[in-house]
Amino acid sequence: MHNQSLPKLTVNVLSAIPRPSERRVALRVTPAAQRAVRNGHPWLFDRAIRSQSHDGAPGDLAVIFDDKRRFLGVGLFDPTSPLRVRILQHGEPAIINGDWLLTRIKTALARRADLPASDTTGFRLLHGENDGLPGLVVDRYGDTIVIKLYTAAWVPQLHALLPALWEALPAAWRERAVLRLSRAVAEQRAHLYGLRDGQMLAGALPEGVARFRENGLLFEVEPVRGQKTGFFLDQRDNRQRVGDRVARDHGGGRVLNVFAYSGGFSLYAARGGAAEVVSLDVSKPALASAERNFALNEDNAQVAAAHHVTLAADAFAALAAMRTERPFDLVVLDPPAFAQKQSDIARALAAYARLTALGLGVLARGGTLVAASCSSRVPADDFFATVQRTAREAGRVLCAVERTGHAVDHPIGFPEGAYLKCLFARAD
Ligand code: SAH
Repeated sequence: MHNQSLPKLTVNVLSAIPRPSERRVALRVTPAAQRAVRNGHPWLFDRAIRSQSHDGAPGDLAVIFDDKRRFLGVGLFDPTSPLRVRILQHGEPAIINGDWLLTRIKTALARRADLPASDTTGFRLLHGENDGLPGLVVDRYGDTIVIKLYTAAWVPQLHALLPALWEALPAAWRERAVLRLSRAVAEQRAHLYGLRDGQMLAGALPEGVARFRENGLLFEVEPVRGQKTGFFLDQRDNRQRVGDRVARDHGGGRVLNVFAYSGGFSLYAARGGAAEVVSLDVSKPALASAERNFALNEDNAQVAAAHHVTLAADAFAALAAMRTERPFDLVVLDPPAFAQKQSDIARALAAYARLTALGLGVLARGGTLVAASCSSRVPADDFFATVQRTAREAGRVLCAVERTGHAVDHPIGFPEGAYLKCLFARAD
């Protein structure tokens, strides 16, 4: 691979970043960690390390050996994080370089090959661990890509990654490129060599806005400032299901989208034929974006005909205060993750229960409840059981229509990768 095709901005950025060391960090690890790595798990934590050849810097490669000095895996070393190695390659030794990365990227693209046929130009190109590239997410929004780093170890590896990405992606997808850094990475100034969260690597986004299509609907995103990389791409199939369900069962009805963000579910509901759609979110900028997204789709007759109302408020308080003379025909509950750590799980389940009860309180009999959870620490069965139990206690019978998970661009490559669960149920 050669660098000539890289945009000038990218070349400038790379010139300030040192390359990873030629010397690999050799690690011996606990028996439990040996088993995990042998089984293909992508994470090695600091506490599992028994011995280490030398200090190493973020982005150096680390090789993990078993007790008989046999190769177990090689990955990205990050001495600043308890998640010390993100394993790139298991089992067979490999030279990790631009060609190796290119192969991984092409495999990931092949998985998503059918997506553009659905008139979708916004989707996840690389989903971290689940696509064999731990700590790295790349999303596409039309002609803009967003590269998000979850470990400073990717910084020196940008020398190999960026040329590989530019080679693998069609030119029309990468006219603009935005670099995003997770909060933890953004704080590690000493390892960033001037890189900033939200900086451009190619092209320009003067208004900070990119546009894309999802199943034929138009959306704007703010990849420089928005949450995650600007949009919750993982819910695409569930949004489509909401549109389909409204079209089939609730044409002319009322839909409530709780935790609406930029109105994704709301637009699908409107296109499906809802007469009224309420987008509820605590964030005013998110709701302003939802309104712009409705305006972008005015040439769709159903969207234009739907009455869209935004409500900026805390979801729990607003639902509790809502009057129920005119219940909704479909309610979407798609809250942010409630459990960040193991000890949060019980509290998270209690919050899901409260939310379910509040949602059912404004849902008509025979209406559809759509309840999602993106907390990876909350097991799917516990979530579904909590929703069902809450409905029973509220004197409602939930008839599960569908239990769904991830869209094709969010593959599940390891247990922690299965975070999204969503229940579609008729509530009598
Ligand atoms: N359903 C959306 C994604 C939701 S992300 C989609 O398909 O795009 C979670 C949203 O919940 C964010 O927009 C955030 O602003 C909002 N939020 C977080 N806490 C909230 C609260 N207590 N009340 C209302 N909204 C909240």
